[in-house]
Amino acid sequence: GSLVVAVDGTSGSGKSSTCRAVAERLGLRYLDTGAMYRAVSWWMLQHEVDIYDPAAVAAQAATPVLVSGTDPRNPTITLDGVDVSAEIRSDAVNGAVSPVSTVPAVRARLVDLQRAIIGAGGIVVEGRDIGSVVWPEAGLKVYLTADPTARARRRAAEAGTADVAATQESLLNRDRIDSLRAVAPLTMADGAVHIDSTDLTLDEVVDLVVGLATA
Ligand code: C5P
Repeated sequence: GSLVVAVDGTSGSGKSSTCRAVAERLGLRYLDTGAMYRAVSWWMLQHEVDIYDPAAVAAQAATPVLVSGTDPRNPTITLDGVDVSAEIRSDAVNGAVSPVSTVPAVRARLVDLQRAIIGAGGIVVEGRDIGSVVWPEAGLKVYLTADPTARARRRAAEAGTADVAATQESLLNRDRIDSLRAVAPLTMADGAVHIDSTDLTLDEVVDLVVGLATA
C-alpha cells in the first residue's frame, strides 16, 4: 500500500521497536529519522567540527553522504559508504545530537532526504517532526510518550547499563532541547493520536497502532 504512518515522540518512548514491528506486520518500509540526525552528528564529531558553533555545523551540513536502509528487519545507515549503526548509539553522539539538530541547514538537508524516501509511500517513519513538518499529510499520525522513569528503564536495559539515573538525565536533557528549540520543536502534530506507553507492553502498543492503521 501507499500508507504513510508518522510516529513522533520523546526519547525512549518505544518508537523504534513499535515502528519496526508495525512495519513488519503491515508489510511497509521503515525509516528512523533520528538515526539520520545521529549519523550527521557522528560525522561532525569525527571531523572535529565544533558542534556548539551553528555556523560551523551549517557550513558542513551538506557534506556527509548518508544512505538509510528501509528494511524494518534490518535497518541500516551508512555514512560515506561505511555502516555507522553502532557508532551513532554512543554517549558522544547522545550528547551531540540535540545541538546539531537545532541547526536549520542540517534540518533542511535531512528533511529533503526524508521526503525523497517517503515519497514512494508505504512506510512507517519515526522522529520528532514527521507529522508536523516532514509529512503532515500522513495517513496516520501517532504521538508516543511515556513517563521519564519508564523510558529511562527501557533505554538503560537496551544499552546494557545499570545507571538508570544517568540515562534518565541524558533523556530529559534531549527532551528539553528538542521541545524548546526554535526550529521544528517536538510537539503533538494536528490530527495525531496520543498513545502513552507507560503501562503498555510493546505488543499492546503495536496492536493499537496496527488497529488505527487498518481502521
Ligand atoms: O530518535 P532518537 O532519540 O534517536 O533521536 C535523536 C535526536 O535526534 C533527538 O533527540 C532529536 O534531537 C533529533 N531528531 C530530530 N528530529 C527528528 C528525529 C530526531 O531533531 N525527526
